[in-house]
Amino acid sequence: MEDTPKHQGLRNQLVSKLREKGIRDEAVLKVITSVPRHLFMDPSLVNFAYEDNAYPIAADQTISQPYTVAYQSQLLEVGPSDKVLEIGTGSGYQTAILLGLTPLVYTIERQQLLYKKTQRLFSKLGLRPKKHLFGDGYLGFQAEAPYDRIIVTAGAPEVPKKLLNQLKIGGKMIIPIGDKEQLMTRFTKTSSTSFDKETFGRFRFVPLLQHKN
Ligand code: SAH
Repeated sequence: MEDTPKHQGLRNQLVSKLREKGIRDEAVLKVITSVPRHLFMDPSLVNFAYEDNAYPIAADQTISQPYTVAYQSQLLEVGPSDKVLEIGTGSGYQTAILLGLTPLVYTIERQQLLYKKTQRLFSKLGLRPKKHLFGDGYLGFQAEAPYDRIIVTAGAPEVPKKLLNQLKIGGKMIIPIGDKEQLMTRFTKTSSTSFDKETFGRFRFVPLLQHKN
């Protein structure tokens, strides 16, 4: 499948909608304008790629709603030399958005089927995260810690302590916290043991799972 002027037109409309819904970060909007979301979708759903909705992908997971991707990316405030850890690669769409903001992206997925599928897609599209890992995101990725930014794209019943430990001082983590419904939460690390916590809107994510099925 390719990216056509029609897709570009639909993306421009999507970005206008995201602006209307309150997304203001121009760097984020610019990347959303350029990343072909339809290439990250299940083939049977490509016609919906530029609707502002979440859709099923493989392994009972979902590609996040564009508004949610934009909202989390905006809160993350990624600079061009920031090292970013993403938990929950899924379709790879959020990863592609992050890669438009910084080349230093590390991403972890725990569903093997999705991991393999998305790995093939990354190589087809020429997307090169620093590392795309198969594993349990609760553990983070200590080998490359500390990170300037951490983004969790699944709903966490509680805050994974290891992830907070892997943040740089001054670093930020965006994580939806809760069971059925999640409160978007941003932690800013102010010293090796202290954090500022801010909460934002309510969202619904698939759960961050602790043990491999
Ligand atoms: N950013 C993705 C969101 C996918 S949904 C996208 O827009 O496509 C959340 C993803 O988190 C799923 O792929 C799910 O398998 C993954 N996930 C759940 N628990 C995890 C864990 N403990 N470690 C890593 N990934 C996890």
